[in-house]
This record gives sequence, structure tokens and C-alpha cells, in this order.
Amino acid sequence: MKKYNNIPIFIPELACPHQCVFCDQTKISGTQNIPQPAEILDIVNEHLQTIPADRHINIAFFGGSFTGIPYSLQESYLKEAYKFVETKQVAGIRLSTRPDYINTKILDLLKSYGVETIELGAQSTDDYVLKKSGRGHTYKDIEKASQLINSYGFNLGLQMMIGLPGDTCEKSVKTAKDIIKLGAENSRIYPTLVVKGTALEKMYHSGKYIPLQLDEAVEITKTIYKILEENNVKIIRTGLHPSEELTPEKSLVAGPYHSSFKELVLTEIWSDILSEKFKSINAEDVVIQANKAQLNYAVGFKAKNKNILLKKYSKVKFVANNSLQKYEINVSCN
Ligand code: SF4
Repeated sequence: MKKYNNIPIFIPELACPHQCVFCDQTKISGTQNIPQPAEILDIVNEHLQTIPADRHINIAFFGGSFTGIPYSLQESYLKEAYKFVETKQVAGIRLSTRPDYINTKILDLLKSYGVETIELGAQSTDDYVLKKSGRGHTYKDIEKASQLINSYGFNLGLQMMIGLPGDTCEKSVKTAKDIIKLGAENSRIYPTLVVKGTALEKMYHSGKYIPLQLDEAVEITKTIYKILEENNVKIIRTGLHPSEELTPEKSLVAGPYHSSFKELVLTEIWSDILSEKFKSINAEDVVIQANKAQLNYAVGFKAKNKNILLKKYSKVKFVANNSLQKYEINVSCN
């Protein structure tokens, strides 16, 4: 299977008219160094030097709502990126935007410049949660935009958040199910964090918003992760990228942040697999085979799963076996 690489180009939407309670507008539109269209050539060339040629490469316009910037500016960025699509140095272009910034004029433009994937920040499909979160759009907008994107033949990405104001585990599960129903090819799952300078920070300090605990966020994400995977939605991100900003000394006020959030989630998925498998195994030593890509998750974050098994068995060994499928295991005992 071909490996994927994105060349990220951060284009924050200047002066976004919306007021999502979790977003720090000044950080997004303030001091960021926004690359000009003329700089795209150098940025992409620089990245291409470090990416093996056999990869499926996308130029990815991230950072805000790409289709919310002026139409002519969108076209200028796309023109520069498309030069690399034409010369087959990259496979295509992807971008992220809001559901209410999609229409046929915009999709015609994106189609003509080789855009492959459009990721919508859906965040939730529950209108009450969307309203409490200040998103400024409804589920209808998500549905309409998704249908339009699919009808043009783009890959559809639907990002979701858990733990938003008014959200519950059941509502998050419903959002995941709606993401499947709407035909998403991929998704990202982000736990809501309280960031300095946001409306959510005020809600948090006044007791109107209680963030998820880390273990709750891991548990909800585990459930959603399984639902999406079982329905062939590719999960391309779980939890925020670790960054210097996301520390209590800087921007992070509260919330279920962990630099290895995905590992915590996969550890719990493997914990379920292992406890089911070992329910009725009585032995001294056990050897567990799993696919190499899954081995660390099977062992668990800080060897959590291995240590649980060591309470029952004297020796526990994990071994790679690439003939096994993602969540398949072979167990041998002495
Ligand atoms: S998260 Fe909301 S407020 Fe922030 S840039 Fe995106 S749409 Fe605007």
C-alpha cells in the first residue's frame, strides 16, 4: 500500500466572522506568518526534497477555512499548487474548510485545480452542541456541503470534536454515525481543550463548562474510533499535534490534552482485545504475536497492557508477525 505524505501550508483565514467558543481568533489571524502565493513554489520544492518519490503526496492547505478567503486569492494559491500536480510531482491538493463555505462556484474552482480531498470541520452533528459552541452553522449545512462534495467526486473528510459544550458520549457516537452516513472517506477526532483567550476559557472559569477528564476522552474516542474504522472511514488524526503552545505555561488552560493521545486510545482498544482473548487462558508463559505496526499499541502506553498480563502470567512476550491483520493476534502458551 502506498504511503501518504502531506506538504502542509498554513493559510489561516483572516478575520474569520465566526465565534467558535474553543477558538483563539487572535492566534489564528494575528501574528502568524502567512505564506504568499508566490512562496508556494519554494515551500513545496523544499518539502519534496525530503519525501521519497514513491509516496502519494498532497499539498495541504490547512489552518483555517480555505474557501473563506477571497475567491481570487484562493485561485492564486491553487494555481501555484496545481503546477506540481500537472508535472505529477504531487498527486493532488487537499484543504480544510467550514461546511457553510461550500457552494458550486467554489467546488468548480477546486475541481479545476486538482483538489482531491476537502475536509470539513463538522465538529458535531447535533444542532444544540453546534449552537452552544458558537459554530454558526447547523447540521443541515454539514449535510448539504457533504452531498455537494460527494457529487463532485472529491474525497470527503469530516472532522469531529468530542467534549464540546452540551456534548455527551451518546451525541459524539451519533456524530460518528452521521459522518459514516454522509459518506466521509476520512475523519479526524479532536478532544475539546480550553485554550487561553477563548470564550470557552470564560465559560470554564465561571463553571459553565466542564472539560472531559483524560480517561473519559480516551474512552469516548475509543468507541468512536472503532465505529469509524469498522465502517471504513480512515482516521487520519486522533488528538492535537504536540506543540510548544499547548502547555499550561502557555495556551493550555484545561482539558484532556496528552502528547500521546492516539497511543492512549489504541492502548485501550488493545486492552479490550487482550482481555477478551485471555479470559480463559491458564498458563505460565505467554507469547503474543501481532502485526508490527500494532505491536507498541498491543504492549500499551508505558507497557500498560503488558503489565496487566504480568499480574496473571510469569512471562509475557510480544512478537511481531506481519502476516497478521491489524487487530489479529496469535497466542502461544507454556
Ligand atoms: S474555529 Fe471557528 S472561529 Fe476559529 S477560525 Fe475556524 S470558523 Fe473561525
